Amino acid sequence: MTSDDKSSLPKCRCGHDRTHHLVSAEPEYTFGGYLLLLLGVTVKPIKLKYRCRQCDTIFETTTDPKLIGGQI
Ligand SMILES: [Zn+2]
Repeated sequence: MTSDDKSSLPKCRCGHDRTHHLVSAEPEYTFGGYLLLLLGVTVKPIKLKYRCRQCDTIFETTTDPKLIGGQI
């Protein structure tokens, strides 16, 4: 049993996990991060929220820098 087993990823009620094409990652920034974004500066999010576009549910959030870094 390994922790990176794909079947252990959280899923929404339609059964989509974060690798599904109907699931989008929504970045969340600190307040200062939002201000920098308004200035056009690229900021690293502090958190990613995975939302299924079919059922409109956020079913997973992550603060894993490896996953966050992959979004930029
Ligand atoms: Zn869903």
